[in-house]
Amino acid sequence: MKVPFIDLGPQHRAIRQEALAALAATYDATRFCLGSDVEDFERGFAAALGYPSAVAMNSGTSPLHVACMAAGFGPGDEVVVPAFTFIASAWGPGYVGARTVFADIEEGTFNLDPAALEAAITPRTKGVVVVHLFGLPAPMGEIMAVARRHGLFVIEDCAQAVGATYRGTPVGLIGDAGTFSFYPTKNLGACGEGGAFVSRRPEVAARARLIRVHGSEQRYHHSVAGGNFRMDGFQGAILGVKLPRLEAWTRRRRAIARAYLDGIRLEGARLPCEPATGESVYHQFTITHPRRDALREHLAARGVGTDLIYPLPLHLQGCFASLGYARGSFPVAERVCGACLSLPIFPELSDEQVRFVVESVNAFC
Ligand SMILES: *Cc1c(COP(=O)(O)O)cnc(C)c1O
Repeated sequence: MKVPFIDLGPQHRAIRQEALAALAATYDATRFCLGSDVEDFERGFAAALGYPSAVAMNSGTSPLHVACMAAGFGPGDEVVVPAFTFIASAWGPGYVGARTVFADIEEGTFNLDPAALEAAITPRTKGVVVVHLFGLPAPMGEIMAVARRHGLFVIEDCAQAVGATYRGTPVGLIGDAGTFSFYPTKNLGACGEGGAFVSRRPEVAARARLIRVHGSEQRYHHSVAGGNFRMDGFQGAILGVKLPRLEAWTRRRRAIARAYLDGIRLEGARLPCEPATGESVYHQFTITHPRRDALREHLAARGVGTDLIYPLPLHLQGCFASLGYARGSFPVAERVCGACLSLPIFPELSDEQVRFVVESVNAFC
C-alpha cells in the first residue's frame, strides 16, 4: 500500500464540476480582481467561522505584511516571533523596517512559550506574531496577559488553524489581528494563492481593507500607504465552493488524528497533545522521536510519505544571519527541528491507509 504525505488530487476530482462551473461564471463575467466572488467569500468565511468581517488577500504572507503596516511598526521597533514556524511568520516586521526578535517554543505543543515571550521583551518591543502551529491554538490567555502588561500589538498567524477556537473564541479574534493562508495545501486551499485578514477591532480591519488597495478609498486618492494585496476573482470563486465543505474536512482530520493518537505505540515517540483550552484542526500531525531519520527511512521503505516540518529553526536561517543568533539560542526549537516528523493527515486518506500508517509506525524498532 502507498500512503502519500499529501495528495490534492482526490479533493479536486470530487468537486471538479462545481469548481469548473464557478470558475467559468467568473471568467464569463470578467470578475478578475476582487469583485462579487471575493465579496461573497469574505461574507461566507466570516459568517461560517465567527468573524465580524474578513478582508481577502492574495496570499497568507500578505495579511502578515499588512498587519505590520496597520500596527504602525517601523524602524527602531522590535516584534517577537517564535523560532519554530514557517518563514512567512517572520517576514512582516522586516518589510516595515522593524526588527524581528525570536523566542523559544513549548516542548509539548510547538507553540510560543509565554515565559520566553516575556523574557524577549525590551523597551523597544511593540508587538508579537503568535502562530497557532500545526492547527493547535497557542496559549493565548498567558500570551495576552504578557501582551497587555507591555502594550503589545498581537498578530495571530492562523495560516494553519482555520476553524480552530481558543476557549470558544475563533483564533484571530483574541489578539489585534488574525491572518490566514489559502495556499493549496492548507486546510482550506485555493487553486492558487490566497489569504485573509480579520480583526475584532473594526478600525484595524478597515485599515487593512484600505492598505489592500493602495491605501485608496476613492480611486486615485491615497490617504495612507498601501500596496496591492487583492485576491483575484477565480480564487474567491473556488474558495466559495470549498468553504461549505471545510467543517466536514476538519472533522475527518480530527478523526484521523484520533486514530493515530489511539493506535500509535512507539517507545520514545512524543505525540501531539491538546490542552483543554483549544481543539486542534490538525493541519499537521507532527511527532518527535530521538531516531527520527531512521524512522523516516523505515516509513519510506513501507511506502508511507512523511515530511520534516521544520528541519531548521528560523534564528539559524541564512536570511536572518545579521540578527546575530547562534546555535544554542533557542534549545527547544533546535531540539524539535532535529526530532520532528510529520505524518500524512489529509481528509481524503482512507481508514485503511490510516491503519497502515499506525501499523508501520508501530513496526519500527
Ligand atoms: C502557509 C503559511 C504562511 C504563509 O502563507 P502563504 O499563503 O504561503 O503566503 C504563513 N504562516 C504560516 C504558519 C504558514 O503555514
